[in-house]
Amino acid sequence: LPKEFIHAATVIREIQANGYEAYFVGGCVRDIFLDKPIHDVDIATSAYPEEVKQIFKRTVDVGIEHGTVLVLVDDEQYEITTFRTESTYQDYRRPDQVTFVRSLEEDLKRRDFTINALAMNADAEIIDLFDGMDDIHNRIIRAVGNPEERFYEDALRMMRGLRFASQLDFSIENKTLEAIEKFHSLLEKISVERITVEFIKLLLGMNRKSGLIPFVETKCYQYCPGLKKYGESILNFSDLLEKQINSESQAWTLFIHSLNLENSEIRSFLKEWKLSNHRMQKIQQLHYGLNQRLLDTWNSLDLYQLGLEKALLVEELLPYFGQINSSEETKTQFEALPIYERSQLAVTGNDLLEYFDKKPGKWVGELIEYIERSVLYRQVENNKKTLLVFAEETFF
Ligand code: ATP
Ligand code: MG
Repeated sequence: LPKEFIHAATVIREIQANGYEAYFVGGCVRDIFLDKPIHDVDIATSAYPEEVKQIFKRTVDVGIEHGTVLVLVDDEQYEITTFRTESTYQDYRRPDQVTFVRSLEEDLKRRDFTINALAMNADAEIIDLFDGMDDIHNRIIRAVGNPEERFYEDALRMMRGLRFASQLDFSIENKTLEAIEKFHSLLEKISVERITVEFIKLLLGMNRKSGLIPFVETKCYQYCPGLKKYGESILNFSDLLEKQINSESQAWTLFIHSLNLENSEIRSFLKEWKLSNHRMQKIQQLHYGLNQRLLDTWNSLDLYQLGLEKALLVEELLPYFGQINSSEETKTQFEALPIYERSQLAVTGNDLLEYFDKKPGKWVGELIEYIERSVLYRQVENNKKTLLVFAEETFF
């Protein structure tokens, strides 16, 4: 048993001791055979939520309507979910209701792909009802059961299939791929938030080409936010150097760069994906910085406005375009700036009002900006008296 499972196996045995079945299921079992780090260990059981709660002293109802109870044992916590089926699907989305069942087979049958439908008991024996092990070995994404039915039930599965292809560098089995092509327009019914979750995983996948090519070929992109008109140019993203992308904001930055969006289109494009304002702003800044850096070295004003942290994120993006990541030089250049933030300017708006004895107005902000820029470019020393004289000479 892999080490991540050893403690959790005691939980499974405890459930069994109470007369129920319990197994490790889903992504964590798949990842054992892919040599991927195991993040969370999911457990499925024939015990109903109330029965799980009777077995363990400390539990939290995290999703009890879906059958999930969080169990706290020692310093660990596990999500334990009752075997269930999802029979009544409406609107091609998640089921509106789940039915708890006592049979593992029923539970595995409702899972999306064969590689995600494996179960493992506390003795590390694998229960493989859909030949998921073969598909892992052959690196294939295959729907459990009839792919058309499965995508018709829940269209998000199509996006999940594409993102697994990208994350794992698997290819999508033919019938599964054909079904995605046939039903791609059902993505229209899926909430943007759920599509975004899968799409960002696709972008961040090490083998994004393996997900992005079928994403374009099956026309799924046409039903994703803001992408309808881009078509083939989406593939520019998969032509970038094949190197892990470190963060979500960096992935979006590279993606909008690949799409060649006009500056004026970027915000509305990102808004369609329902990203937070904070993230949209960060991506726009990184995108601006990237375009500057692809043309030239940093200038002091851009470096100051972006800040060191974001400038270094931009540096990390240069290798995707065959340019060198100059983080050391960037740090040195940043440290050499005369000021790092506006509060370090030797004059404030109030100083200006007092000195010039004029009515407040737009001029104050403009003058501060001008002074700030001049200090950054070392055209004037950052000293109160000098700055006031400088302002007087240039502005009045
Ligand atoms: P990751 O490593 O990205 O978390 P995962 O396979 O664990 O991958 P989750 O989204 O955490 O993916 O889902 C856990 C399991 O639940 C999946 O392995 C799959 O068996 C099942 N599952 C999740 N979403 C669906 C869905 N839309 N349809 C059918 N089964 C699903
Ligand atoms: Mg998971």
